[in-house]
Amino acid sequence: MIFLRSLLNILFPSQCPLCLSASDNHSHNPICSKCWSTITRYEGPACSICGLPTVSSYTRICAECLSKKPPFAEINCYGIYDGALKESIHLLKFRGVKRLAKPLSELLLSQVTDDYDAVVPVPLHINKLREREFNQTALLGRFLSRSINKPLMLDALIKTRNTKLQTAVSGKERRANLRGAFSISNNISGLRLLLVDDVITTGATVRECAETMKRAGAQEITVVALARSMPRINT
Ligand SMILES: [Zn+2]
Ligand SMILES: [Zn+2]
Repeated sequence: MIFLRSLLNILFPSQCPLCLSASDNHSHNPICSKCWSTITRYEGPACSICGLPTVSSYTRICAECLSKKPPFAEINCYGIYDGALKESIHLLKFRGVKRLAKPLSELLLSQVTDDYDAVVPVPLHINKLREREFNQTALLGRFLSRSINKPLMLDALIKTRNTKLQTAVSGKERRANLRGAFSISNNISGLRLLLVDDVITTGATVRECAETMKRAGAQEITVVALARSMPRINT
């Protein structure tokens, strides 16, 4: 195994985009082992429902979750969208480095139990899927579903409207941008579902997905994601 790994590294040499040293591990290539080891789980204070990390250690639920009960049971994010984790998600999503889906999905594994009926990835609109040729959350969901031995429901939730990029619209417009953008094409009535996403910013996307699935009769939705991008703090 070690021999095979060294051979693969000789055959496919590359440079770590973070520290510029030679990549030394095929499984999370081109991120080197040293940079990969800096990917750590966020352990700081966070909302116990949506995982928002700005809540003080005295408050267990954030203002948004307090004002309106979220359609999901909880959001479990592995880390903060920064450094090697951010770079790895970028490489997978925008550069098509699909091999990173496996080591990234292993990070998700530490955030989930096997207490679900099925795994549902956050879908891409068909136009976006044609452009990118694959859906990164579907790749993550596939590894996850194999690891916890639960079916992957790729077609349960579909994106019927091609929305503006969430980062291109302001906070308030984000929910409106997504309203009615998803629909259900499979019977999910009574199911406890694990919704998989890559990065959570305001949570508007997973909120809309979970609401759509709840309306279709899903019993419970738990969200798992790789990273949380830190919201801008008003000072
Ligand atoms: Zn490196
Ligand atoms: Zn919250």
